[in-house]
Amino acid sequence: MMQTLTLEQETNPWEAQAARFDFAARKLNLDEGIWKVLRYPAREIIVHIPVGMDDGSIEVFTGYRVQHSIARGPAKGGIRYSPDVSLDEVRALASWMTWKCAVVNIPFGGAKGGVICDPKKMSQGELERMTRRYTAELVEFIGPEKDVPAPDMGTNEQTMAWIMDTYSMHLRQTCTAVVTGKPVNIGGSRGRREATGRGISVVCDEALKYLGMPVEGCRVIVQGFGNVGSNSAKLLAEKGYTIIGIAEYDGGLFNSKGIDVPALIEHRSRAGTIVGFAGAEAADKDELITYPCEILIPAATENVVTSRNADRLRCKILCEGANGPTTTVADEILADKRVFIIPDILANAGGVTTSYFEWVQDRMGYFWTEAEVNQRLDAIMSQSFLDVVAYATSHGVNNRIAAYMLAIDRVAYTTKQRGIYA
Ligand code: GLU
Repeated sequence: MMQTLTLEQETNPWEAQAARFDFAARKLNLDEGIWKVLRYPAREIIVHIPVGMDDGSIEVFTGYRVQHSIARGPAKGGIRYSPDVSLDEVRALASWMTWKCAVVNIPFGGAKGGVICDPKKMSQGELERMTRRYTAELVEFIGPEKDVPAPDMGTNEQTMAWIMDTYSMHLRQTCTAVVTGKPVNIGGSRGRREATGRGISVVCDEALKYLGMPVEGCRVIVQGFGNVGSNSAKLLAEKGYTIIGIAEYDGGLFNSKGIDVPALIEHRSRAGTIVGFAGAEAADKDELITYPCEILIPAATENVVTSRNADRLRCKILCEGANGPTTTVADEILADKRVFIIPDILANAGGVTTSYFEWVQDRMGYFWTEAEVNQRLDAIMSQSFLDVVAYATSHGVNNRIAAYMLAIDRVAYTTKQRGIYA
């Protein structure tokens, strides 16, 4: 049935999420009522944000905040600034946050926000005004006990600082726990910036152990060199993995002997692009993900591995740093090829796990050392990997469906326990 999907249907993130959810729910024999409750987001907010632009004109941007679930705790999830943002995408990303928080067993529900804009074409002043007005529109919907945003594509620590400040000005008191991923000096957590990449390096270590493969000679290709991709590459290289390829939106790099990642990060901050880096040869960015390697890490955006290219992938492990990089049709092709998948809701959960630590530290007003943060993160990521593969084995399903089943089961249990308020 899936093979009959058009590419547009195949790459709709909401459909991709819903297909996996339905499959896992069926396997769990999920109660029909709970199925309906968990299938759809609890709340969807649409805002149209007027912003004074630098040239004196007024622009109106459309923004969303979707809260999928608050069953296990406050809603939690990033805010994305991108021209490709759509309600369906934000819905999918919000649901994935619910499942992700449940997979790593932290006390949050799931949410996501997005604004349709091109942050690369906006000045700092325009971004600040847009962020503050977006926050003001959402002021009664977010909060440390309600919904806690964080960075995602196109947003960063500075964006979180503006949100924290705007929210605090409305409250007339500084409230740091309203967002995570803040700068360290204003309530951010040590280790948060690298946390998603660090979590990825931990699940890669666990996967190699599980599959009996050595770190030495383990070739890694990373697609995307933003926060997640660059930190994954850097940390994996430090652990002895060989980063042979890096693909970015504007070009790719290949070096069979391994790319010097810190040198590349330095080149990028100087040149504004990875292109032209002397320590590797240029490679086609789309072809790179089909090169032979032990681990492929898509760390950019959705729909990178689709029916168009899945049969050409030559990795042994697909570790999903991005949310939703693999379509459901591609899943089937990769299953036939026996690719070991570390699914997004497990692989990239290191970010939200350290966001949880940040929220805890803000509420305590007591901050941990980087070593403490990292040690707690490593423990949660290792345990979650083992939980997912054990679940996959005992239920005879693949890792992705195991992660969904584990998560849905946890959220369903809480939902039933709390009961339906009428
Ligand atoms: N945007 C990140 C994600 O997709 C982090 C979310 C968070 O820290 O709340 O997992």
